[in-house]
Amino acid sequence: MYDLIIIRYGEIGLKGDNINDFISQLVSNIKRATADLGDFEISTVYGRIFLYAESDKIEKIVGRLANVPGIISLSPAQRFRIGKKVAKFNEQDFEKLKDSVVELFKAEVKNYPTTFKVKTTRADKSFPMESPEINRELGAEILRKIESDSVSLSVDVHQPEHLVEVEIRRGKVYLFLRREAGPGGLPVKSSGKALLLLSGGIDSPVAGWLGLKRGLSLSAVYFDSPPYTSERAKEKVIDLAKVLSRYGGEIKLHIPYFTEVQQEILKNCPSRYTVTIMRRMMIRIANRLAEMNNELALVTGESLGQVASQTLEGLRSSDEVAEFPVLRPLITMDKNDIIASAKRIGTYEISIRPHEDCCTIFVPDNPATQPKLDTIHYGEEDLEIEELINRAVEKMEVITINEDAK
Ligand code: ATP
Ligand code: MG
Repeated sequence: MYDLIIIRYGEIGLKGDNINDFISQLVSNIKRATADLGDFEISTVYGRIFLYAESDKIEKIVGRLANVPGIISLSPAQRFRIGKKVAKFNEQDFEKLKDSVVELFKAEVKNYPTTFKVKTTRADKSFPMESPEINRELGAEILRKIESDSVSLSVDVHQPEHLVEVEIRRGKVYLFLRREAGPGGLPVKSSGKALLLLSGGIDSPVAGWLGLKRGLSLSAVYFDSPPYTSERAKEKVIDLAKVLSRYGGEIKLHIPYFTEVQQEILKNCPSRYTVTIMRRMMIRIANRLAEMNNELALVTGESLGQVASQTLEGLRSSDEVAEFPVLRPLITMDKNDIIASAKRIGTYEISIRPHEDCCTIFVPDNPATQPKLDTIHYGEEDLEIEELINRAVEKMEVITINEDAK
């Protein structure tokens, strides 16, 4: 029935001179997201991307592309060839077109009573019929054929439940009844590279997804503190990175050895400041990794006021040691909204598996919620910061995660 998918992109259309780079990045992301389903012909015309595929694969591909950043909407469509000489489009051709429209309508519309409207866009003005005439004829045909099956159907030009769209382009007519939403945003890899601080919690994977949706390509770091944190906690993070990799391509997951850092903080720093100082050490190690990998920003899952360390003072104390902009996509989001996003992208079920958090194990009873920079500096005095960073990175494991879209 369907033989292609019409893919619409939004914002990348605004990029002026760079538009071709954006489109080719989006096309390569589309290929990657569908690679295991086949090698499909793709063309970029009329400000759209067309992907041609066998009819039985179309729905599966649509499902995949609904998660590819940069796409705002998609329509499975049927192409109706009328050859180069559009002006010679005749009665017979129109009969065939009518049959196609009815066939599609029957396949897509299952629940009655319902309403519909036909909407024709005629980009090719040499087409011998005008849009209102086409709308009328096709609408009448649908009513005639479907009503003969004794179901209740009517035309509603204002708020139809089904919009039957007919697009007439050079030599071809495209028919479609559905517009599925894509995630919007920008194609992954069109905005440069950043390092995601990925814990096993609910928040940071969502932050990563939002970064991908803004065109970043990501690598990740997970601060592991064995034996205080288990192998299972690490596996959780690997599984989360796999989900992100389905959307964003290869992710290098860095796992520095954080145990010694935490032990030294516990031994040498005032207890009320251990969390703040630990977060600063995470940022410092992240700085080092970002430098090594040519990344230009850090991404975290922090949300203002969510926990004791996510106060303005807490964020400021992290930012003071950051050598790159710290992107916090969730900063103004409520937990409920973050959870809804996590469910949508498929990380929620992984994130709620029970695990020990390297942060909670060392959390004192009364962490400072308004840490003062002076006091923090004083608290860090006995810490051998550079040596600790060096050793954490020397003992680092790096896992390359390259998960196919599924
Ligand atoms: P999440 O749900 O992402 O774990 P959270 O609400 O538990 O976040 P915190 O534990 O304060 O908040 O962590 C804030 C952010 O710091 C996380 O979103 C993540 O980006 C980063 N982070 C915390 N712990 C780790 C860790 N062990 N490894 C890597 N990043 C971490
Ligand atoms: Mg956490």
